[in-house]
Parts: sequence; C-alpha cells; structure tokens
Amino acid sequence: MNPLERELRARIESQGPISVADYMAACNAHYYATRDPFGAAGDFITAPEISQMFGELIGAWLTDLWQRAGRPEGAHYVELGPGRGTLAVDALRVMRKAGLEPDIHLVETSPVLRQVQAAGLPGAVWHGEIATLPENGPLLIVANEFFDALPISQYDKSDEEVMVALVDDKFVRTGQVASEIRSECPAFEIGRRIHQQGGAALIADYGYVGPSLGEPDWLQFRSGDTLQAVSKHEFADPFSDPGSRDLTAHVDFSALAATGRDSGPRTFGPVGQGQWLDAMGISQRAEALAAAVPNRTEEIAAARDRLVAPEEMGRLFKVMALVAPGWPAPAGFAS
Ligand code: SAH
Repeated sequence: MNPLERELRARIESQGPISVADYMAACNAHYYATRDPFGAAGDFITAPEISQMFGELIGAWLTDLWQRAGRPEGAHYVELGPGRGTLAVDALRVMRKAGLEPDIHLVETSPVLRQVQAAGLPGAVWHGEIATLPENGPLLIVANEFFDALPISQYDKSDEEVMVALVDDKFVRTGQVASEIRSECPAFEIGRRIHQQGGAALIADYGYVGPSLGEPDWLQFRSGDTLQAVSKHEFADPFSDPGSRDLTAHVDFSALAATGRDSGPRTFGPVGQGQWLDAMGISQRAEALAAAVPNRTEEIAAARDRLVAPEEMGRLFKVMALVAPGWPAPAGFAS
C-alpha cells in the first residue's frame, strides 16, 4: 500500500467520507509527484509526445498572433502542466526563429516533472499556481491535457454531493453520479490575466461541447460520470490503488468557453483537434519533415494521422482559444 492510500484510509476512518474532488486532487498530486508517466514505457502518451509537429504548430500559432498584434515587448511564454516540457521546446524553437524570445514560466506542481522540464528549458521559472505569474506583459499561455487532470465534484440526481467512503475496506462512492462540475477550474483567472495584460491562451484537451455541434451520440453532452483512470495505456478502476494511476475527466468546453468569456477575453472554438491542426498546416509540415528525413516518412505520416484522424485524437480532442481585447483573431478557427 502506498503512503497516499494509507493517508486516505486514515482520513476517511477518522473524519468520514471525502469528496470526489478531494480524492481526485490527492490521487493526482501523488501520482504526478512520484513519476514521469509519459510514453510507451509509462502510462499514457500525449500529443506533443507523439510528434514534434504538435508543439511546432502551437509555436507558429502564437508567433502569428504576436506578430499581427504588433510584436509587443515583454511577452511571456506560459505553460500549464507542461509534462516533460516537449511541447514548450518545440514551440519555442519556432517562436525564436521568428524573433519572438519570451521568458518562460511553467505552472507545475510535480517536483519530478519540474526536473525533467528543467533539462530542456534552461532559464525557465516555475510556479505552483497561476496567481504568481508575472503581472506585466502579454501572456502567451498553452495548456495541453491540463484541465482534464483538475478535480471534479460529482452529484447525484437530487444534487447531493457524491462522496468517497470506505466499505469492506474498499474505496466506494456513496451515490449514483448524475452530474459533475470542475470545481477548481482556473479558466477565469487565466482569462482575467489575458484581459488585463494582453496575450492569448490555447487550450487543448479531450472533452465535449454540448449537443449542438454535430457530435456523434457517444460524444454528446456528458452530464454523467466521466471520471476515468489510465494505467499502462489501459483503462483502470479510479477507486483502487489511489495515487498510482492518472485520474482524469472529460473537459466541459461549453463551461470553459463561458467562463473564459465572463472573465473578459474573446473565445474561439472549440473545434476538433484534427480540424485545427489541418487548418494550421499539419500536412504541409509533415511533408517538409519527411523530405528532410526520408527514412522516417511512414512514421511521420502515422503520427499525423494519430493526431488528426476523427477515430483517433482528431474529434474527441478539442482546441479552444482566449484572446485579449485589441488582439487579432487567431488562426485555425475559421469555420
Ligand atoms: N501538457 C503535458 C502533460 C499533461 S499531463 C503533455 O501534453 O504532455 C498533466 C500535467 O499537469 C503534468 O505535468 C502534471 O504534473 C501537471 N499538473 C496536474 N495537476 C496540476 C496542478 N493542480 N497544478 C499544476 N500542474 C498540475
């Protein structure tokens, strides 16, 4: 039994059931603090780890926006939950080539992952929360698969909060889940900062947008239970072995967009990740890469397909942007 499981058992035995949000927050804090979970040998793989094209196109998107905004001085590159730092390295390479050299601010709680990030991003500054980010200068914010790991609160059909209890020595929920919300969502704070300081945020994650966007049934508005665990690339039980598997839940993009708008900036999207990457020129980028390294042509095409194809990441994953007032409309979101 890992130390977190012992701690959770003791806490529930002495104080009673805890909320799903508290359970999820504790599990993920322990999970990310104790390992580098990415890649074939780990638990799961993310878009920037599939191909350098993902981070490069995000770098191109930020550069284009910054150029059309008049190349403002003092911009900061900010990433929320940067994982191994791969996306930042790929994005910043593209940005620097175009004369955009922001300082680097990473919001990351895991000491293990901070170390991995430091290796590729010399000079970066780390933050435990959004509140301590610089308050002057435009923020160029990126968040890939960050929101899905943030805690959700779950409710039954009478709107009673569902809790996590111990029954026969096992962690079980106290009710049937009918709805859930992301309880500590920092979208408002991000939007408020962009509104005040200028800049933009690009948010990519897996999730849903409500029934109006022509989604297939299985992707339509998911008001129920989307909490899931992944371990060694397979789905697992979120309530066994707490802290040893990644807990995530679908991102409610309608709620995220509404929160973003409430805080001041304009929002764009969400659109499917496939649509956004196509609009950003992923096929041309794949061809250019393949021309430079012909023996990797198949691998590059396979990576492109995995990121873009509707039955892979292209539709379940979505991309959304928040853009400061006075900044131009961003690339990739025209319908
Ligand atoms: N963006 C990366 C990693 C996604 S995994 C990629 O696409 O590969 C989630 C990341 O968010 C990890 O780096 C994890 O340590 C970090 N994280 C999770 N919860 C966090 C929190 N509450 N505050 C800051 N970082 C968090």
